[in-house]
Amino acid sequence: MSGNGNVTLTIDGTEVTVPKGTNLIEAARRLGTHVPHYCYHPALSVVGNCRICLVEVEGMPKLQIACNTEARDGMVMRTRNERVEKGREGVMEFLLINHPLDCTICDQAGECKLQDYAFHHGAGVSRFEDEKVHKPKNVSWGDRVVFDSERCILCTLCVRFLDEVAGTDEVSIDARGDQVTLIVKADGKLTSPYQMNIIDLCPVGALTSRDFRFKSRLWFMQFADTICTSCARGCNTTVGVRDERVLRMVPRHNADVNGDWMCDHGRLHFAIANDDERLSVPRVDGRGVPYAVAAQRAADLLREAGDSAAAVASPFMTNEELHVLKLICDAAGIEKRLFLNPVGPGDELLVHSEKSPNARGAALLGFEAVDQDCEGVQEIDVLLYVTPREGIALPETVEARAKRRIVFAFHEREADVLFPLTTWIEKDGTVVSAGDRVQRLVKGFSRFGSLLTERAALEMVLQALEAGFEPAATPAQAFERVAAALAPFEGLTFTGVGAHGAPLGRQEVPA
Ligand code: SF4
Ligand code: SF4
Repeated sequence: MSGNGNVTLTIDGTEVTVPKGTNLIEAARRLGTHVPHYCYHPALSVVGNCRICLVEVEGMPKLQIACNTEARDGMVMRTRNERVEKGREGVMEFLLINHPLDCTICDQAGECKLQDYAFHHGAGVSRFEDEKVHKPKNVSWGDRVVFDSERCILCTLCVRFLDEVAGTDEVSIDARGDQVTLIVKADGKLTSPYQMNIIDLCPVGALTSRDFRFKSRLWFMQFADTICTSCARGCNTTVGVRDERVLRMVPRHNADVNGDWMCDHGRLHFAIANDDERLSVPRVDGRGVPYAVAAQRAADLLREAGDSAAAVASPFMTNEELHVLKLICDAAGIEKRLFLNPVGPGDELLVHSEKSPNARGAALLGFEAVDQDCEGVQEIDVLLYVTPREGIALPETVEARAKRRIVFAFHEREADVLFPLTTWIEKDGTVVSAGDRVQRLVKGFSRFGSLLTERAALEMVLQALEAGFEPAATPAQAFERVAAALAPFEGLTFTGVGAHGAPLGRQEVPA
């Protein structure tokens, strides 16, 4: 017997202690045992309608569904034996009766639970000889989601997500028997700004993304576990890339940041990474030059200007990039250290009012947040300006206050020295997300072979200013330098931050 609100049970011959109230799927998960399930999701209400999570519990005459059975002290449960497998085989047979043989043309292939469970728990043959029931395919649920009724197994995950998490309650079950389908209640189009999460939730290919569908088979893609940079939340994501192009972004579980979700805006905001018109080599006075030449010219301009220069950083830069920029300011005697801080409406679920990933890091590293009027930049000789993302920029009138400009930008533009800007998926580094959480960006690819990250380019400028400076050899070493320079980073390591981030130390972070 267990006390302290815990219960101890035996699963497949092994004892496990779990908090009271834990269901049998989660109890088995503690032992690394996967109980198959379609309709169960830990963040949604339990409905117990798919019946594939059948398990045997001693003392109970019938097989039980693990999602809706609470672990009890002394319980003896089996997730695998002939009786359980027979039960699951029966469930699979019912699910497949009217399911179309669509796998070869279905976007879900390779990440489909119906495929996986048919393989592991199905009979391998069909006894069904009649014509399958046909239902609407390729049904538009708006500009982001496409519904295929034949593939739907009526698990209701999508219905519950929209009701319980997104709060829009837009989808319901319609009709009965083998004609049953789903409908979008209002005018047939979804409205939730979180609607694309139902595509990830759908265990089969019934809900597909209009943006991603038919672009690539899963097994031709590579994946990077990184974060979204469209607001300060820093939702954890997995980015799918192929041929040096981003094809999709999906949420990655992080209980301390985004749970299992992300907003549609962040999910779809990656066009810049695939832009073929982006700048790929540095320019001096409009001519393409090697990085070393551009770095030397930038250093010369900054040295000459001294405190009549200003630096306008970007809150899309990593801590490591901002740190090198700070060292450049120190070396060149630049006092005016600013950053553009885009803000806008947030919501109560995830979307944050800070529309960049690292305003906190910029503030910690001594840059002052300004709006687009940028009062701090008046009559100056040299402006060192790292542009933020598309659509956010200093007005030309502000830039024109500077006699000379050193600019990092995505596209060709006027500047004395112009460095190509990289996107969040082309670099390793860290940011300080909402809740003062340090999180890692992970490089998925490099769009142009010759492109250097802002950190590497800025390190070259710093080397040209300070002969003794050695660039960091690895992202981990660059992080160590930040951690050594900032008290709130004390005790954090690059490895320790890991794939799920870590909270900053005890010190207060400037607002
Ligand atoms: S569309 Fe997908 S998530 Fe929604 S009920 Fe059908 S199978 Fe489940
Ligand atoms: S809430 Fe913010 S971080 Fe999360 S997906 Fe949306 S824009 Fe990206």
